[in-house]
Amino acid sequence: PLYSPKEDRYTNGMKYRRCGKSGILLPEVSLGLWHNFGDVNPFSNSIRMAHFAFDSGITHFDLANNYGPSYGSAEETFGQIMKKSLMPYRDELFISTKAGHDMWPGPYGDWGSRKYLMSSLHQSLKRMNLEYVDIFYSHRYDPATPLEETLQTLVDIVRQGKALYVGISKYPKEAAAFAYQYLKERDTPCLLYQGRYNLFNREPEQEGLLQQAQEQGAGFIAFSPLAQGLLTDRYLNGIPADSRIALGGFLKQEQLTEAVLLKIKRLNQLAGQRGQTLAEMALAWILKDNSVTSVIIGASSVEQMKDNLKGIQQTDFSSEELEAINNVLNG
Ligand code: NDP
Repeated sequence: PLYSPKEDRYTNGMKYRRCGKSGILLPEVSLGLWHNFGDVNPFSNSIRMAHFAFDSGITHFDLANNYGPSYGSAEETFGQIMKKSLMPYRDELFISTKAGHDMWPGPYGDWGSRKYLMSSLHQSLKRMNLEYVDIFYSHRYDPATPLEETLQTLVDIVRQGKALYVGISKYPKEAAAFAYQYLKERDTPCLLYQGRYNLFNREPEQEGLLQQAQEQGAGFIAFSPLAQGLLTDRYLNGIPADSRIALGGFLKQEQLTEAVLLKIKRLNQLAGQRGQTLAEMALAWILKDNSVTSVIIGASSVEQMKDNLKGIQQTDFSSEELEAINNVLNG
């Protein structure tokens, strides 16, 4: 066979956390396919990263309808990987997709209508060569669609067997409260809240989204845990030609201000004092909190994934370390 997974994949270091009050355990590190799995990326690198992830105990792969570029192509790449090698292990995998952002032209290819979510999921399943996904998310809150319409669609998707669980992403706290309640009353409790959480973006703590998820029995999964690469050694000495900033992705050069770069350098020093790289420390810092179920990393190489996986080895922080980190962030 083209690929046979490592036999020690569940005993070589990965740790699993229970997702809220559910039956599901997720790996502390999950792999996101937003970048680096599109039709613009070499398939050989994408499949290598997917295999490395599975061999490392990463059971959770996070996708969305429009990941690529082009839109849909990350799901197609993943579908090819399933077909070539991972299909025999389908039941060992926890696969997500989402709809809620721009996907196709016209009034039915964006936001939160029943029409959009249902047809998008049909497309996603075809692209990924799957009969169902493990979790389907409403990718963002739509202020113009009645929340009941979006949420009832999630319920019906589960009833139709097209997803085993549902989740919400980037919902403001009040809308999230409504969603948790609505879904619970229909016996399809929200499994996961997916939100941006990293050293540079502490809204989930500050706005109480972490606490809310915990109180509701849902898990919390953090996206962009490395702030798209800022919280690594990537930009310490300039902007590498193969980096997300240089390639013109969603991370913009304007975000790398002098002040931000100074913080990155100081955080990098603090990481060094802990015997970690900055990427390792940034992930460990999120995972120090037990109400976080998993961090979804993006990566452009197996080397980066190796580095990131080391982050889960040391997730304890002394109060002095936390204070030093806060001083840098507030400085
Ligand atoms: P990260 O914050 O982990 O950033 C990933 C990027 O950081 C990589 O592409 C790489 O950049 C750089 N990097 C990663 N590891 C290292 C390392 N060890 N050393 C140096 N550089 C490193 O995550 P993403 O922003 O990619 O988001 C992760 C996932 O979260 C997505 O794939 C998606 O699944 C999900 N997500 C969900 C959203 C939502 O709305 N729900 C929104 C955004 C993301 P480079 O390419 O330059 O090498």
